[in-house]
Amino acid sequence: MPIPDTREQWQHLADSLKINGQAFINGQYQSASSGKTFTCISPIDGRTLAEVASCDAKDADIAVVAARQSFERGTWRHLAPARRKAVLMAFADLIRQHQEELALLECLDMGKPISHALTGDVPACARAISWTAEAIDKVYGELAATPHDQIGMVSREPVGVVAAIVPWNFPLIMAAWKVAPALATGNSVILKPSEKSPLSAIRLAALAQEAGIPDGVFNVLPGYGHTVGRALALHMDVDCLVFTGSTAVAKQLMIYAGQSNMKRVWLEAGGKSPNIVFADAPDLPKAAAEAASAFAYNQGEVCTAGTRLLVEESIRAEFVGLVREALQQWKPGHPLDPSTTCGAIVDQQQLDRIIEYIGVGRDEGAELVEGGQQVMQDSGGFFVQPTVFDKVNNGMRIASEEIFGPVLAVIGFRTPEEAIAIANDSVYGLAAAVWTSNINVAHKTAKALRAGSVWINHYGGGDMTAPFGGFKQSGNGRDKSLHAFDKYTELKATWLMLE
Ligand code: NAD
Repeated sequence: MPIPDTREQWQHLADSLKINGQAFINGQYQSASSGKTFTCISPIDGRTLAEVASCDAKDADIAVVAARQSFERGTWRHLAPARRKAVLMAFADLIRQHQEELALLECLDMGKPISHALTGDVPACARAISWTAEAIDKVYGELAATPHDQIGMVSREPVGVVAAIVPWNFPLIMAAWKVAPALATGNSVILKPSEKSPLSAIRLAALAQEAGIPDGVFNVLPGYGHTVGRALALHMDVDCLVFTGSTAVAKQLMIYAGQSNMKRVWLEAGGKSPNIVFADAPDLPKAAAEAASAFAYNQGEVCTAGTRLLVEESIRAEFVGLVREALQQWKPGHPLDPSTTCGAIVDQQQLDRIIEYIGVGRDEGAELVEGGQQVMQDSGGFFVQPTVFDKVNNGMRIASEEIFGPVLAVIGFRTPEEAIAIANDSVYGLAAAVWTSNINVAHKTAKALRAGSVWINHYGGGDMTAPFGGFKQSGNGRDKSLHAFDKYTELKATWLMLE
């Protein structure tokens, strides 16, 4: 079937989509044990997409038992790594084969443009799984530096039952970044998608099963954070909790781990990333175009969004003008239209939050130079214009708090030292960018920035080969690359005395 290329064709496909809202436990789709559901609404038009199983502590117990039993049986962890690789490669292939369906689920469920879901989210999800799978039979243990009559072996073992709690902004990618290394290293996994975007994760379960992942090894529990999420985090038989989401919830999860079994907790949390533009940036229009996409892509619902634009004073007015021009490419539109670049905000609550912050920016005395309005109200969905505030100072709330919407704070600076001080004056440390033609300034600034990813003369680079994660309150541990295996394995030292 050719890929649809008009809004009408995508709508037609959406109308014929069969959406499953059930949990997936021990190889079976099933309702929540309480029978409760919640209504999954599309942010595009307010339409009901599905009734989704509202799992709670009882379902968490059932899924943890299934995951533990599968782990103990060894049906997955005892497979040769090359065999796990083959199954995961088949899983990635199935995701690619179902690209239109998965892209549609992602678009309808969280509001992102269909073209971004199709060319960004779905292939990145498949790639995360296949890249990780390809690596798993190429990692070796170590021998310690022992005296001649001893042997010290250092090996990695799967940690056990892994609960992965993920957010709604990139549901497929965030799930894949956790599930791929967890499964590759032989763990049994329970994925809890966000209640705001559970549909693609539910669909993934069937594809994983079709690929050959044994029953109980991959489970999906949709539901709320304060019910099933909390139950997993407090569970005495979950060995490892991996999370992507807000810093506030991340802190709570550390408490839950301390209150229960001291499970390992790995956190990818919020950000307020600085994008620093020096007057000698090599190509100002390109820098401005990327500064616009850095905060407008995915409706600004991106943990690494470049929401603090630090511009050298001598070019500030010119550069803000260029960013405003570039924003002409980022007008909100219907997400099923393939030409749309800026889709719907995930729900009414998030839209209200963004509108409230726009009001805060005005009240704080920042200068609103672009956007600022809710639009397309007659669609029944939740749309807002990408919004730019100039003359912001870093102490204002719109510069220090994560809004998680398309709102940019422009802050002027005069020297590299001042730029670095402003950039690092944040509780977060997820990402940062620096634009300059001076290689010394580029590297000195990159070294001084307290952030897990730093980009020079572009915004947002990186692929599966590079670790991703945060300094400070943006989290701990790293997703992607071989470093991700650290989270899902325990190191074992086995020592032998030779007779
Ligand atoms: P959130 O913290 O509200 O929710 C994330 C997940 O946690 C959801 O599945 C939710 O149901 C669950 N949850 C909520 N309360 C819980 C509790 N008490 N116990 C257990 N689980 C609970 O975040 P969100 O609104 O879904 O996502 C936006 C946030 O995610 C932003 O802060 C963003 O920066 C962050 N994020 C970070 C990264 C990264 O890699 N660092 C990537 C994407 C998003």
